[in-house]
Amino acid sequence: MELSDFRNEPASDFKGNPEHIRRMKEALEEVRKELGREYDIVIGGKRIKTDDQLTSYNPAQKDQVVGVFSKADKGLAEQAILAADQAFKGWSRTAAEDRIALVVETARILRERKYHYAAWMVYEVGKSWAEADADVAEAIDFCEFYARDMLRLAKPQPLTPVQGERNYLRYIPLGVGVVIPPWNFPLAILVGMTVASIVTGNTAVVKPSSDSPAIGYKFFEALERAGLPAGVVNYVPGSGSAVGDVLVTHPRTRYVAFTGSKDVGLRINELAAKRTPGQLWVKRVVAEMGGKDSIVIDAETDLGAAVEGVVASTFGYQGQKCSACSRAIVVEKVYDAFLGMLKQRVEQIKVGQPVEPDTYMGPVINASARKQILAYIEQGKKEGRLLTGKDDGPGSGYFVMPTVIADVAPNATISLEEIFGPVLAVIKAQSFDEALEIANNTEYGLTGAVYTKNRRKLEKAAEQFHVGNLYFNRKCTGAMVGAHPFGGFNMSGTDSKAGGHDYLLLFMQAKTLAEKVAM
Ligand code: NAP
Repeated sequence: MELSDFRNEPASDFKGNPEHIRRMKEALEEVRKELGREYDIVIGGKRIKTDDQLTSYNPAQKDQVVGVFSKADKGLAEQAILAADQAFKGWSRTAAEDRIALVVETARILRERKYHYAAWMVYEVGKSWAEADADVAEAIDFCEFYARDMLRLAKPQPLTPVQGERNYLRYIPLGVGVVIPPWNFPLAILVGMTVASIVTGNTAVVKPSSDSPAIGYKFFEALERAGLPAGVVNYVPGSGSAVGDVLVTHPRTRYVAFTGSKDVGLRINELAAKRTPGQLWVKRVVAEMGGKDSIVIDAETDLGAAVEGVVASTFGYQGQKCSACSRAIVVEKVYDAFLGMLKQRVEQIKVGQPVEPDTYMGPVINASARKQILAYIEQGKKEGRLLTGKDDGPGSGYFVMPTVIADVAPNATISLEEIFGPVLAVIKAQSFDEALEIANNTEYGLTGAVYTKNRRKLEKAAEQFHVGNLYFNRKCTGAMVGAHPFGGFNMSGTDSKAGGHDYLLLFMQAKTLAEKVAM
């Protein structure tokens, strides 16, 4: 089997390409007609309906139902693990080339319907066109990249030769994986963790976020169309607090691939560490968690570029990215000039309905997220000076206006805790060195950026700024598969580096074979 070199899926051009705009408009219209349908749980290839249901709403139009989902309880969660365990017997022995072919075919299906997947995200999680398009592109990239990496890992691996022996090292799958994604990259992250699981020969129980079950279901349908055998992936929506523990602690669960908040990630890690009766292995946990990401702005920099980078990193998808900038740490000499330019720029951001092509910021994900973000803004007003941000956004959904709080102390609550909304704290530093120290003062270590023209300062930052993904003179969001393997330090997670060449190894174990041969 041969595959061409990996290339990132190109972004659509919704500003200049009339064909892209037309296709997105058509997809939004077609998907709108599909809203409100009912969806089943799928375990072992069987559709299951339950009386207990989960309703997914459009966060920009609070009353618009995106879909109604049967909801797993503990019994169904356990059934899903057993179905995946049963399917593992066949799938783990399926040739790597067949597994790879299925994943490449899935990428083709995603590409063919890319505007439809993007449209589902506009409705279900309030992404702007460009953000939704980027999410689909990343999902396609994960499929294409992991397919190629599996091809590499399925080949004989290099070993030191020993006279009189023939030696091999083979990567084999682990077993049943529990895949728990967040809602903020409802396609890309779900696809990345699921595809990494199955291309390596594992089977999976996928529990989508309760805020984005429709997108998870649409991807499951793509897998089925690509020829997924029954039970290899089981689609099991349900409340994380109700079924999470059953999935994580089940003795047949071999590993958990989680992306989400720090608190849930730590809980999963703790539960997975405890052996349950009948459990034969030490469970593996791949956990990518929260962030409190900083951009350092030096005096020797292009302030206009720094302002653009901060605005894109902070307010893209309403700040609801683990990589989002939520602290600008600015050297005293340019602090006031930076604030002046930033205020002007932030006040131009268009907030509105994500179905409109020129909307930059839509709603936050749900009522409780909005309440929590507004509480942080109130806290921020006490801890600093409100530079810009109005009290309320459009009433139809869970809108929060872009907000900047200046003169924030490095140890203030809004400087240290993840807000996960469109809120920026601006902190003044006496010097570049002090700015770097402040950048490292949280418990997280996910992304960061530095704006300076001084090479010596960039080198210092490369050494001292302790984050998994560090960017120079550009925004701190928008990691590309293959180019920027993604994962964080400290309480940001296990640094799994999704979209990198080390990632699939987390889903496999290596078996060494040594055979004595006649001399
Ligand atoms: P979350 O509340 O932790 O939820 C993530 C997933 O965990 C959801 O599917 C959720 O299900 C499930 N869950 C909840 N409680 C559980 C439990 N006790 N056991 C097992 N699963 C449980 O996070 P979120 O609000 O969806 O996502 C936002 C967070 O994700 C932020 O902290 C963000 O920084 C982080 N994130 C990190 C990365 C990264 O790569 N580091 C990427 C994206 C997001 P329910 O929806 O049913 O509760």
